[in-house]
Amino acid sequence: MRMAETFDVIVIGSGPGGYFAAIRCAQKGARVAIVEKAEIGGTCLNRGCIPSKTLLASAELLLQVKTAGAFGIDIPSVSVNWAKWQQRKDAIVGAMRKGLTGLIQANKIKIYEGVGYCTTPKTVVVESAKGKTELTASKGIIIATGSQPAEIPALPFDGKTIISSNEALSLTAIPKTMVVVGGGYIGCELACVYAAVGTKVTLVEALEHIINNEDAWVSQLLEREFKKQGIDVLTNQKVVSLISDGTVTKVVLESGRAINAEKVLVAVGRRATCDKRTIENLKLQTKGPVIAVNDKMQTSVAGVYAIGDAVGTTYLAHGAFAEAEVVAENILGGDKKIGDYALVPKVVFTFPEIASVGKNERVCEKEGVEFVVGRGFFRANGRSMAHNETAGEIRVAREKASDKILGITMVGAKVTEFIAGARLLIGTAEKFDDVSFPHPTVSEVLKEAWEDSFGMSVHQTPKKK
Ligand SMILES: Cc1cc2nc3c(=O)[nH]c(=O)nc-3n(C[C@H](O)[C@H](O)[C@H](O)COP(=O)(O)OP(=O)(O)OC[C@H]3O[C@@H](n4cnc5c(N)ncnc54)[C@H](O)[C@@H]3O)c2cc1C
Repeated sequence: MRMAETFDVIVIGSGPGGYFAAIRCAQKGARVAIVEKAEIGGTCLNRGCIPSKTLLASAELLLQVKTAGAFGIDIPSVSVNWAKWQQRKDAIVGAMRKGLTGLIQANKIKIYEGVGYCTTPKTVVVESAKGKTELTASKGIIIATGSQPAEIPALPFDGKTIISSNEALSLTAIPKTMVVVGGGYIGCELACVYAAVGTKVTLVEALEHIINNEDAWVSQLLEREFKKQGIDVLTNQKVVSLISDGTVTKVVLESGRAINAEKVLVAVGRRATCDKRTIENLKLQTKGPVIAVNDKMQTSVAGVYAIGDAVGTTYLAHGAFAEAEVVAENILGGDKKIGDYALVPKVVFTFPEIASVGKNERVCEKEGVEFVVGRGFFRANGRSMAHNETAGEIRVAREKASDKILGITMVGAKVTEFIAGARLLIGTAEKFDDVSFPHPTVSEVLKEAWEDSFGMSVHQTPKKK
């Protein structure tokens, strides 16, 4: 064991939670170390947000090019160079990883490569090919060890036919057929990528709807749009097994139906990761697979904090950022609480995109709140028509008694870009006629929906009384 080196803060994991917390702590003057066992940037940068959005960007452009005729642009033939999609994705990820590493170093944060685990609430051991190093933390330790794809017993990953999102982001050839098991955001986004390049995609979801945490209208709208993209969506269906005759592999559903699947992408969620030794040595309290924390991101052990996917709250990078802000304050003596998780926007980068913030209609109904829903439509929006992207709508839920906006849900092109602005409307009873939205922009549909909640949408025909 190499001699102990002392830091104010030690962060285990360099994903969005870990690197953000580390940099914030360093900005506040702390001496910080990051321990990372794989690539800097974590899931998000290397096997999540960025590679998936890069492939989705190629897929979106491909679909747009195919409709170029509608814009008066004749493109005689379009072909996909899949190897270049992969190279472009790897180049973007590589450049971002280099940038992030430089940023961490510029903040004078020391990076330790290896597996980190806690031996006491003040010490972390880093295990690598070079041996073991012990680090001491004078102020505290932040566990930001993220998550891994969840497996299902019927379809254990083999990395070749039964794959997770890790492999699905890096396939060397376009499969002819793919069954995506799980209609959450990861399954839906990757279904869009592969359907765009000609894979026959079947999406199987055990629940009533895909993207089941949103209101039913969102899922139904997406299911309709997926059909147009050639994606078969099977809901209320469970996969029970995989059969193969040596040449053709089929996924068998509970109903007995068998579907051809050159690749089976299992995207049924993520499982929190934390080194067992940390849990045992500290007797850290867990809630199932996740580390238990309070609203200050403190674990059951004083001075040890946990954030991000490891605590299983949002499973979103910007959720991890929000928790990192809290922990960076508290580990250096502050007293900050995490805000309302409903205000962390949920985003899905499918075609069309989905974005929501605040309470959706289902939650309002469950809570017995009296509310009115206003709707605005992209099909009636000039910019959306100009761009040939008219699918989708925005709904605003407004509390009847107070006029306060409770929730906003959007389905449409590029809606993920303006949900952060929409989030500022949540909880306000601002008068819409005082707020100017630039024309012509797709964001005007948000104002239409807001106005419509008062029956005052100028661009919609009056409703029958
Ligand atoms: C395909 C896909 C697409 C996604 N798209 C989006 C998106 O568009 N938007 C969004 O907000 N979120 C998205 N996510 C989710 C997002 O990636 C995660 O929520 C986010 O990465 C969580 O950050 P984290 O810091 O908690 O953990 P991670 O990013 O998982 O990072 C954890 C890090 O800890 C390291 N580690 C683990 N154990 C140890 C140990 N013992 N010692 C040292 N290092 C260790 C790991 O190697 C890893 O680098 C996506 C996820 C996937 C899989």
